[in-house]
Amino acid sequence: APLVGVLALQGGVREHVQALEAAGARTIPVRRASELDALDGLVLPGGESTTIDKLMRLYGIAEPLRAKIRDGFPVYGSCAGMILLADRITDPALDAAGEPQQTLGGLDLTVRRNAFGRQRESFETTLDFDGLQDLPSQEPGQPAAPVHAVFIRAPWVEKVGSSVQVLAKVLPQAASTEAIAKGRDSVARIVAVRSGKLLATSFHPEVTGERRIHELFIQMIRGDA
Ligand code: GLN
Repeated sequence: APLVGVLALQGGVREHVQALEAAGARTIPVRRASELDALDGLVLPGGESTTIDKLMRLYGIAEPLRAKIRDGFPVYGSCAGMILLADRITDPALDAAGEPQQTLGGLDLTVRRNAFGRQRESFETTLDFDGLQDLPSQEPGQPAAPVHAVFIRAPWVEKVGSSVQVLAKVLPQAASTEAIAKGRDSVARIVAVRSGKLLATSFHPEVTGERRIHELFIQMIRGDA
């Protein structure tokens, strides 16, 4: 079975470990650059993208990971992890010194952090997710059941480059008044994408017992998806 690391600097590590193991991977928590080379893939968990960015740079793991991503290393990011894989952020946070948060990049897209607004900080919904119908766990020829998705101060994808495949969208109904005022609630928003060996979701599939997103990632690692 492939060995998949879960970046364990901050955020929801344990749930990804459980989901990956249920989906057939071996797992290991990762904190150092020296641990990267043994891996077949890596998960960037949800949490706080500014904190994870800072810690990755502090621990010297950001640069080596960037280089590996450029070379085609498979990475799945959920929520904060999606932000870390994005080439661009609409509204990067500034630290005390006024420095904007950084990302690893790799996905040619622009994310908006905390996009769903205050009143919809956290919500659950079901959505159609492309690419699950061919998973080994699926009944052949049957459509995939919708994904139960939990959004927690989630980003959405504002713009994608031509290399990026959109896998799922959600209509942010009853979004915050601020979002409505900015006309941000009337369009279905991109919440899952893939490009090459990179996979990202705005939401957390790992907290609902959903295993198919991790299964898809493992198939990507194996070269079967
Ligand atoms: N809002 C967080 C960020 O910007 C992401 C939230 C999450 O990962 N659940 O990093």
